[in-house]
Amino acid sequence: MTVRYDIAIIGAGLGGLTAGAILARAGRKVLVVERSNSVGGAASSYKVGDLFVEGSLHTTSDPHHPRDPKHDPLRRAGVLDAVQWVAAGSLYEVRGGPLAAPFVLPDDFDAAREALTQRFPEARDSITAVLGEMQQLAAAAPGDATSQQHDATLAQTLDRAFGDNEAVKAALAANLVCYHDDPATTWWPFFALAQGDYLRSGGRYVHGGSQRLSSALARAIRTAGGAVALRRMASAITLDGDGRINGFTHTAKDGSDSQTVDAACIIGNAAPETLATLLPTDGGDRLRAAYAERAPSISLFGLTLGLARPPRDFGVTSYSTQLLPDWMTRLADYAAATTLMAQEPGERMPPLAIADYAAIDSGVPAPPYVLSVMGPDALSNWDGADPDAYRAKRARWQAAIVACLDRHYPGLAGAVVASAFNTAVSMRQYLGAPHGAVYGFAPTPPRPGAARPERSPATVIPGLYLASAYAGFGGYTGVIASAAQCADMILAAADADER
Ligand SMILES: Cc1cc2nc3c(=O)[nH]c(=O)nc-3n(C[C@H](O)[C@H](O)[C@H](O)COP(=O)(O)OP(=O)(O)OC[C@H]3O[C@@H](n4cnc5c(N)ncnc54)[C@H](O)[C@@H]3O)c2cc1C
Repeated sequence: MTVRYDIAIIGAGLGGLTAGAILARAGRKVLVVERSNSVGGAASSYKVGDLFVEGSLHTTSDPHHPRDPKHDPLRRAGVLDAVQWVAAGSLYEVRGGPLAAPFVLPDDFDAAREALTQRFPEARDSITAVLGEMQQLAAAAPGDATSQQHDATLAQTLDRAFGDNEAVKAALAANLVCYHDDPATTWWPFFALAQGDYLRSGGRYVHGGSQRLSSALARAIRTAGGAVALRRMASAITLDGDGRINGFTHTAKDGSDSQTVDAACIIGNAAPETLATLLPTDGGDRLRAAYAERAPSISLFGLTLGLARPPRDFGVTSYSTQLLPDWMTRLADYAAATTLMAQEPGERMPPLAIADYAAIDSGVPAPPYVLSVMGPDALSNWDGADPDAYRAKRARWQAAIVACLDRHYPGLAGAVVASAFNTAVSMRQYLGAPHGAVYGFAPTPPRPGAARPERSPATVIPGLYLASAYAGFGGYTGVIASAAQCADMILAAADADER
C-alpha cells in the first residue's frame, strides 16, 4: 500500500528532526525515517553498562540569546524551552602547545578581550581588532557573514594580526577541532561567526544529555501529527518523468517489509553521497556531480571515560579543556594531528578536547564520573584493518590517551572504571556517515567563481532538499540553522505553487 505524505525525511539527526518539527507545526504531513534504534544521529546520549556516553555535545552557544542562530529555529520547532540549557562556564581552558602556562578563555567578548590583553599585552591592538571583527560578523544578519566576498582563511587572519606569536593564536583558536583541523583551509568568516556565537552568548550543555533535545524534537513532530519511524532504511528515491521527486521506499534494516511513500518533497538528513545511491542512475549522477568538488569534513574520535572519583580530584579545573601536545608549537601544526591514528601510538599525541560533566550542573549521572575526550580522526586511519586488528589498535590508542591524561592529571588513569571509544569507523557505522565526516563538507573558503551562497538546502533535483551539516555548516548551530532554512524554502515553494 502506498501512503501519501507532504514531506518525507530521510534521517532523524538534528537536521531532519528540526526541519520535520518546523514543517509539521506549520501543518504539513511529515514522515521521518531513521535507520537507527533511536532518534538524534550524532546528537544522542546513551548508556553502556553503567557508563553514560554523550555521543557528541560538549557545548553549543546559548539558543536563548535572541540573536543566536538556533533561537528562532528551536522556538518554531517548539523545543526551545523543552530542555534545560545549562551554562558551561568559560569557553575553554587551553594547556600546552605554544602556551607556557594554562590560559582560560572566558565566554563573553569583553571578558575575553580583557583576559587576552592581560596575558598578551604586546598584542593588545591586534586582539582588539580580531575580536572586533568576530563581534561584527556574529552580529550580522544570519547568512550575511558567510555570504560576503571575504575569502581569508583563519591562518591568514591570525598570521596577519599576530605574526609569529603562536601563543595568542592558540589561546584564541585552541578548539579548532570543533570545526575543522587545518587553520590554513578554515574559512575565516565561518570560524569568526561560530566562535563569535560562543563569545556573545556563552556555551551551553543540554541538561541530562543531547538525547533530550533530539527526543523533544521527535515529540514535537508526533504531537503535530507527523510520524517518526525507527529502524527503517530509505532504500530508493523515485522521480517522475520530469525528473522531480515523487516518492521513496523504505525497508526494515534487513531489507524486508518494503513500504512505498508518495511525496513530492524529500528532505535528506543523510549525506548527499548516500542520497545519490538511492536515486535512479541519472539523478544520482547529477547529485554527485553537484558536490564533486566539495571535500568532506574531518571525523572525530570520542573516548568516554568513567572515573571512580570526580575529575577535579586529579586537577581538571574547567568544564572544557583543550590539551595541546608539546609537539604543537604552532597553531598550523593542528593539521598534522588528524592522521596520527594511522600509525601506532608513539611520541606524538593528538590535541585532546575534554569535557568534565561533573564540573557543571549537567544532569549527567555519576558515579562513574564522565570525562569525554575527543580529537580529530579520519576513516583512512583505520583502513584495511580487520575487526580484531581494529579493536586491538584502538585499545592501544586508548591506553596511550589515558597515559597522556595521567601525565597532565596524575592519578587519573588509576581511577578509570569504565570506557567507550568511538572512532571515525564508529561514525561511519552508526551514523551512516560516508568518510566518517561529522561536520558535513569541510568549512573551506568558497571556490573561486562558485555561486554564493555556496552552501544551501536546495539541490539540483527538484523537490529534494538537504537539512544537515551538508546544507550549511556542521555542529549543532550550523545544522539547526540550515534545517530552518530548508523548511522555509519548502514553505515558500508551496506558497509560490499556490499562487
Ligand atoms: C564526538 C563528537 C563531538 C561533537 N561535539 C560537538 C559539540 O560539542 N558542539 C557541536 O555543536 N557539535 C558537535 N559535534 C558535531 C554535531 O554533533 C554534528 O555536526 C551534528 O549533530 C550533525 O547533525 P546532522 O543532522 O547533520 O547529521 P547526523 O547526526 O549524522 O544525522 C544523520 C542521520 O541520518 C540517518 N541516516 C543515514 N542514512 C540513512 C538512511 N539510508 N535511511 C534512514 N536514515 C539514515 C543516520 O542514522 C543519522 O541518524 C560533535 C560530533 C561528534 C561526533
